[in-house]
Amino acid sequence: MQLTILGSGTSMGIPVIGCSCEVCTSADPHNQRLRSSALLEHDGTTILIDAGPDLRTQMLRQRITKLDALVLTHAHADHIGGIDDLRPFTMRSTRSLPVYGDPYTLGRVRHMFDYVFVQQPSLSTRPQLETRSLQPNFTIGSIPVEPLKVMHGPHAITAYRFGSAAYITDASEIPPQTMERLRDLDVLILNALRFDPHPLHFTVNQALAIVAELRPRRAFFTHITHDLDHATVNQQLPAPAQLAYDGQVIEIAV
Ligand SMILES: [Zn+2]
Ligand SMILES: [Zn+2]
Ligand SMILES: [Zn+2]
Repeated sequence: MQLTILGSGTSMGIPVIGCSCEVCTSADPHNQRLRSSALLEHDGTTILIDAGPDLRTQMLRQRITKLDALVLTHAHADHIGGIDDLRPFTMRSTRSLPVYGDPYTLGRVRHMFDYVFVQQPSLSTRPQLETRSLQPNFTIGSIPVEPLKVMHGPHAITAYRFGSAAYITDASEIPPQTMERLRDLDVLILNALRFDPHPLHFTVNQALAIVAELRPRRAFFTHITHDLDHATVNQQLPAPAQLAYDGQVIEIAV
């Protein structure tokens, strides 16, 4: 199984518009972070995790031509804002694209993209999407999917386990029942915003504490602000944790 980091940035992306800080003006491409998203591929099945406002650029950069499903973590704009740009995928296909998420997230998607779900003859001016509710364990093609609850400040959102990999973004707390499902991972993708505390997101040190407890073989931090210079912070991080970067391809043991 292969996971590609399509975006490793926090909600505004890096560089931040109008910011002239060292990271935003850095020449290191690792410091250019599109909004958080990832692609999972295994045995002919391709799953997109989140559909943020940079979706079009991400699909073009990675030359993605086919998607079998979209799985959503939650309905904040930096995770669903690119949904309309799924149009080229469903224009070329006779079937609609399944979109998985918790009931609240799917409700928000139906509200924000109401024109997508109106019952009229199919039009190429909107993506053909079909919302599907999450089951405790299910498969998408050849990929096993286990949704897991994490807290994003006061809100419960969805993390996902895919076989020996887990993808957790925008978490500030992982409930004990979810921690129990994450103890034997090959790869953990986990959000780590910055060093300063934030009410809705893990800091780097909080993410490191989770890694120390779960002991995955490898851990990659995502949803990063412009406070973190890739090279500087990566040097300080204890193994097996490192900062993810856009375009990074991670092989996952099956
Ligand atoms: Zn976010
Ligand atoms: Zn900046
Ligand atoms: Zn969020």
